[in-house]
Amino acid sequence: MTNRLDGRIAAVTGAASGNGRAIAEKLLADGATLVAIDLNPDALASVFGDRPEVLQVQADVADEASVKAGMAKIAEAFGRLDILVNNAGIVKFGTFEELSRAEWDQVFAVNSTGPFLVSREAYGLLRAGDGDHTRAIVNITSVEAHIVISSSGHPQIHYNASKGALLQLTRALAVEAASSGIRVNAVAPGFIETPFTAEALGKEEVRNWLLERTPMGRIGKPEDVANGVAFLASDDASWVTGTTLFVDGGWTIY
Ligand code: NAP
Repeated sequence: MTNRLDGRIAAVTGAASGNGRAIAEKLLADGATLVAIDLNPDALASVFGDRPEVLQVQADVADEASVKAGMAKIAEAFGRLDILVNNAGIVKFGTFEELSRAEWDQVFAVNSTGPFLVSREAYGLLRAGDGDHTRAIVNITSVEAHIVISSSGHPQIHYNASKGALLQLTRALAVEAASSGIRVNAVAPGFIETPFTAEALGKEEVRNWLLERTPMGRIGKPEDVANGVAFLASDDASWVTGTTLFVDGGWTIY
């Protein structure tokens, strides 16, 4: 816990579960006021209750009208935004030959188009942000944007491709946003214990396979991801943009 985000307004998508929830709590602990965005308002309410430092916003990141309505609530409440974390994401498994167009589109809609829409609609608010500090977008990609772990028995070409697209969105937007004092970076988690991975990690053979290949010898926690995000969101990273911080226990070393 630090005070390095005191006074900052931070929005996190997918804030009601897993990595997003831990990111939200970490940004709050470091002093930020939080906008918690998620699909399900009941899930948001059950996680954040009536905490005054949290604005709960129901929005579907894949739906343009819903994103616009969500950003209008932030504009009305604060008139600006300092930190945006594009965390909401979905995973689907299936072999290439069985992959339907509908499922491909669904994964891209949430994992790639979602961060595009949210960032674009938040951009004016970020430009209006606290000029004493750099503003930051942090995109949650995955080691799967860089390597392919289908040997775990879970082929997911659409997920790989959608996270690869988000990686390049991060790098390209970093160039365009730099002159506005907005930094754009990614955190690439390895396997983290969340509802997202519960099924795979519930299988002992998968868990053992992962542990054998992770130099740090443990599965990641959402708090590990949150600590990386908080660094990139803060002025501690004020000259860091367009890069990826791997939070993977060393998985991608070899
Ligand atoms: P999670 O526990 O399933 O949480 C994802 C949250 O995002 C849920 O609250 C979900 O709501 C919400 N969400 C899904 N679609 C949305 C949409 N269209 N609009 C708004 N919110 C939406 O997953 P997680 O493990 O924390 O994953 C979070 C991010 O980390 C994802 O981008 C994922 O790709 C990335 N990641 C995870 C791991 C891992 O091992 N867990 C590894 C690498 C990267 P519902 O529950 O209502 O659907």
